[in-house]
Amino acid sequence: MDKTIGFIGTGVMGSSIVRHLLRSGYTVNVYNRTKSKTDDLVRRGAIWWDTPADVTKHSDVIFTMVGFPSDVEEVYFDEYGIFEAGKNGQVVVDLTTSTPTLAQRIDKEAVSKGMLALDAPVSGGDLGAQKGTLTVMVGGSQEAHEQIKPLFDTFSSAAELQGPAGSGQHTKMANQIMIAGTMTGMTEMLVYADAAGLDLKKVIHTLNAGAAQNWSLANYALRILKQDYSPGFFVKHFLKDLKIALDEAEKLSLDLPATKQAKQLYEQLQEKGHGDDGTQALIKLWWPEGKRS
Ligand code: NAP
Repeated sequence: MDKTIGFIGTGVMGSSIVRHLLRSGYTVNVYNRTKSKTDDLVRRGAIWWDTPADVTKHSDVIFTMVGFPSDVEEVYFDEYGIFEAGKNGQVVVDLTTSTPTLAQRIDKEAVSKGMLALDAPVSGGDLGAQKGTLTVMVGGSQEAHEQIKPLFDTFSSAAELQGPAGSGQHTKMANQIMIAGTMTGMTEMLVYADAAGLDLKKVIHTLNAGAAQNWSLANYALRILKQDYSPGFFVKHFLKDLKIALDEAEKLSLDLPATKQAKQLYEQLQEKGHGDDGTQALIKLWWPEGKRS
């Protein structure tokens, strides 16, 4: 409870995480590109600052949870960024799903300033963030992980150190390769079961109890039946993740044809204007209105 927290990026995920930190009694300094997205947090006691550098000046630990690797680069390395103000003894923790290479660059810069860095992308979705049950995939030093573990515990149920800088992002890519399969599988399952004239609610209930059980089915199938395509997890962010995963696979001389296919499907979905929908909107490639025809 002795640490003052900085938090940059209070969107779908970040805002829920900040609420957990506030509930646990921490002082939290916040910054977000769109200021209004911090209003509720400020009402709950968070303190607004005008730049990432200002947040950094007033915090011991600085979390970031922005959208894309380019956003991460901006908040760490630009003028008025974290590293402009960073000083000896502070810890930076990037919760964004980003590239292993950028995580290593942040780590190097942090070390040169006497700071510590962790890459710590999460899994568990918007509901996991609200419930405080996220899984955190951590890369960095044991020392930094030990310092930050009590903070992870306020919003996660598992936060394991995977290895040195970049290992958290690599683990998240492994996670997203798996999710590519569960999202396409869940979508094609619904399209098939519907075409076969089955009762979809009953099918979902039955499959959830058998070997086909998975997180995408449990969390998104009923949302589709309710025509709830809100994010959740943005299509544009999943596409970003699939691109990073395939780039990294290529560096490892690996061919991942099923992940490539999932990326192509999500590209088609984004081209149809659904980039700001949740990833369950994949079914709109078959059900353009978002409901059974
Ligand atoms: P989001 O709602 O778009 O949140 C990102 C926030 O970061 C937005 O509020 C955005 O500001 C802010 N931001 C972006 N660039 C910034 C910058 N340069 N300076 C300050 N603030 C900036 O997205 P999200 O769903 O929370 O996801 C965040 C990250 O977590 C993504 O990398 C995503 O892939 C990953 N993730 C998401 C989920 C999920 O289920 N949602 C699960 C696991 C991981 P604006 O308000 O101006 O856009």
